[in-house]
Amino acid sequence: MKRNLILIFVAVSLVALFGIEINADVQQHLVQKGDTLWGISRKYKVPLKSIAQANRIKLTKRLQIGEKLLIPGTSIQDAWYFVKAGDTLWNIARHYNVDVRDLQTANGISSPRHLQIGARIRIPNGEELFAFANPLRIPLVVTSKYGYRPHPVTGRYQMHEGIDFRAAMGTRVYASRAGKVIFAGRKGGYGKVVGIEHEDDFTTWYGHLSRIRVKSGQWVSQGKLIGLSGNTGISTGPHLHFEIRYKGRSEKPTQYLTIQ
Ligand SMILES: [Zn+2]
Repeated sequence: MKRNLILIFVAVSLVALFGIEINADVQQHLVQKGDTLWGISRKYKVPLKSIAQANRIKLTKRLQIGEKLLIPGTSIQDAWYFVKAGDTLWNIARHYNVDVRDLQTANGISSPRHLQIGARIRIPNGEELFAFANPLRIPLVVTSKYGYRPHPVTGRYQMHEGIDFRAAMGTRVYASRAGKVIFAGRKGGYGKVVGIEHEDDFTTWYGHLSRIRVKSGQWVSQGKLIGLSGNTGISTGPHLHFEIRYKGRSEKPTQYLTIQ
């Protein structure tokens, strides 16, 4: 009798807890003009992947104004990974943008080099790197924002289709995301420029380079060295001009790229 009471108590508690969690944990976001999944993820401090999973959408989905998105609770933060042949903990850590030591601690792994194929790795706060990575691997300093501005050389008020990052002459420039090089050469005011086509209709462009290290048609992984920054084309000094385009139209890079 006593045992039954305890079981009922446990069941009722679970329902109550679960109910509370559903109500308190899931919010709705009404998509506004200019919203991106990246921006929404930052606003609610919920991993991109959790939002995508909760809404059964791809991370590159174009949001519609007025669309309702479920924002899951921040408690859904751990990702899981199943080890494949050739994996190392370093690769996995890089893929999820987490520290390798955190993976070791979370999974009780002493040697990051030897992983058992098929083993399940817990990724604390893990979020897959679908996003665009820093093309410079140095802290990004914005010297000119995306959007309308008086052109620094011509003085004409016009659209700045990308963002300018401070970069001394010869700073290494890396592919922000994996893809196929679709342009590597000189192009008008861009000077020496590399364009990379990514999945789902995104392209990235890297302008005013002093050296180009890739060829058109070449596939590059995220973080691949593609050139050195410079001052070619119409430019007032060495810097990196970086663009993210979706279906050919420029997007605000800071919606995709975290700038500390
Ligand atoms: Zn620029």
